Amino acid sequence: MTSTLVFYSEHDSFEEWSALLTPLLPGVRICQPHDVNDPDSVHVVLGWKPPQGFFAQYQQLKLLVNLGAGVDSLVGRDDLPAVPITRISDPDMGRMMASYVLFAVLRYARDIPAFERAQCERRWHYLHPRLPSSVRVGVLGLGELGSYAALELARQGFDVRGWSRSEKQLDNVTCVNGMARLDGFLGSSDILVVMLPLTPQTHGLLNAERLALLPKGSCFVNVSRGAIVDQHALTAALASGQISEATLDVFDREPLPPEDPLWALDNVLITPHLASVAIPATAAQQVADNIQRLNRGEPVLNQVDPARGY
Ligand code: NDP
Repeated sequence: MTSTLVFYSEHDSFEEWSALLTPLLPGVRICQPHDVNDPDSVHVVLGWKPPQGFFAQYQQLKLLVNLGAGVDSLVGRDDLPAVPITRISDPDMGRMMASYVLFAVLRYARDIPAFERAQCERRWHYLHPRLPSSVRVGVLGLGELGSYAALELARQGFDVRGWSRSEKQLDNVTCVNGMARLDGFLGSSDILVVMLPLTPQTHGLLNAERLALLPKGSCFVNVSRGAIVDQHALTAALASGQISEATLDVFDREPLPPEDPLWALDNVLITPHLASVAIPATAAQQVADNIQRLNRGEPVLNQVDPARGY
């Protein structure tokens, strides 16, 4: 019997994914929803934010692959099929994310925003460079992406600390875990990098009280999800100088509306949610491997736990 993989995304190229997956999955028909002949032949959905009710038509579904690393828009749905859910998590995605985080942290550690401002005023502004070991960088979330970034930051010589839910060990990174350690962690982060998934536990985690625990003049980087942070409180902290600089790739509303006060702050760098993206050339192999594992009756890799939320 033919097996069908249905692709759904409004952002990713079907042609590119199909061209990469076809040679890796002989015997599997790869198509978009409007090209499905027999809904019962659909065993795999590779999708990003399919519409509500999408899965009901595929009664023989065996695997749902989230076309990205963040699963918050998926796991909260009430129409999820009772099949394993996996997500894309490949090293190239980690490297791309780490390069963004390194850029943001190095920019602050080397005082680049101060030189950008001085240059606008044609002002020679000498600030003696700091040793990276004197800069405490806190990484919230030590998963696939967070641990990669933390290790890269450690390689640059920063004093790197990481926070996660369960206990972790990473070379040259001081790892702590659990809510009881969060406040102290925030208080010792000169640069805070948010790399947590959005779950019911992390939603609004960085509220006004917790942001106030950051050392005065600290820098803030968010590359995971906007709703983890109270954006009004963050804006106020940036306006008052409690937080001196921020690099923000994600927001509680995207696109960030033109009237949002964050746009007007000259101590904020805004990028439109692109710190890292799934790279089909490398991720296709991982998707194909998981489908083959499923066909052999083996457990799939990078499985998401909907109850845990990530
Ligand atoms: P993972 O699921 O691999 O890791 C999540 C990490 O967060 C783990 O270390 C986990 O702890 C920790 N964590 C989760 N919940 C809690 C909690 N309540 N308290 C403390 N720690 C917690 O995620 P990734 O590293 O792959 O990705 C992180 C996020 O980055 C994604 O969820 C997504 O939202 C975002 N993202 C953003 C992109 C962008 O372009 N801006 C692109 C791709 C992803 P433990 O290790 O103990 O499980």
